[in-house]
Amino acid sequence: MSNNEQTQRRTALVTGASYGIGAAIAEVLARDGYDVAVNELNPEALVNTLSKIKAHGARALAVPLDVRSQPSIEACMQHVLANFGKLDLLVNNAGVLLRKPALDITREEWQNVIDINLTGTFFMSQQMGRHLIATKRKGSIISISSTHAIVGVAAVSAYGISKAGISQMTRMLAIEWASHGIRVNAIAPGTTETPSRKASFGNDPVRRQHLMERIPFKRFCTEVDVAGMASYLASPAADYVTGQTLLVDGGLTAY
Ligand code: NAP
Repeated sequence: MSNNEQTQRRTALVTGASYGIGAAIAEVLARDGYDVAVNELNPEALVNTLSKIKAHGARALAVPLDVRSQPSIEACMQHVLANFGKLDLLVNNAGVLLRKPALDITREEWQNVIDINLTGTFFMSQQMGRHLIATKRKGSIISISSTHAIVGVAAVSAYGISKAGISQMTRMLAIEWASHGIRVNAIAPGTTETPSRKASFGNDPVRRQHLMERIPFKRFCTEVDVAGMASYLASPAADYVTGQTLLVDGGLTAY
């Protein structure tokens, strides 16, 4: 690839892309012509994602990042910009689920969910906003919310509240940065059988059936379903879309 071709290519950073939804989004963006940086919290798990990105002829960059740490967030952005020269798209996918009754959640557990899902997403977005505004370039942010941001579900309150915060953050930043040509959107997937979710309910047939009964399409969401929406939001086809949380839920919230 010539230097000119490299600077013409679009560039993306996807957080939490070791496996699951983030890995699928990283791969689809590489397919769509993006060079992709992914965060390296767990280097061993990332090997697969990096090879899938490269298989599409895209540049793949592994960057250390813990979204709970502001110095780590700032160092990550500097690392990506030093290597790619610019960033066109940020995908805030890193997140943790806490399944616990509200009565039992400790202050530390609450804080960890908020730090990763909400505060991490905000300060990553702030870095991206600063970069795009300083360089006078249009760009886009996609954050991963959840149907739990919209419908009430027992025993996942901290998680659902953090995801509802992401959806409102999406509206706020979209309005604040619209005049700079920055689009800010979110995707709210329904239950997706990623490795981590399979581990939490995969062997529990009663729980599976309970979840399935509420989904009109009678199947769980897949990583590919979510990545398809990310591909759309990252594309010129979505140039007039901002401030939205787009649901990928098999009709769950249409009731
Ligand atoms: P996952 O498999 O658990 O992956 C989460 C990713 O986030 C992992 O790569 C993890 O890194 C990373 N991460 C966790 N803490 C981090 C931190 N402090 N700094 C940087 N990265 C961190 O999740 P998933 O099921 O694919 O879900 C991805 C996103 O979609 C999450 O935001 C989740 O809330 C959301 N979502 C999932 C579902 C679902 O049913 N699966 C439904 C709706 C929304 P490590 O690999 O190193 O742990």
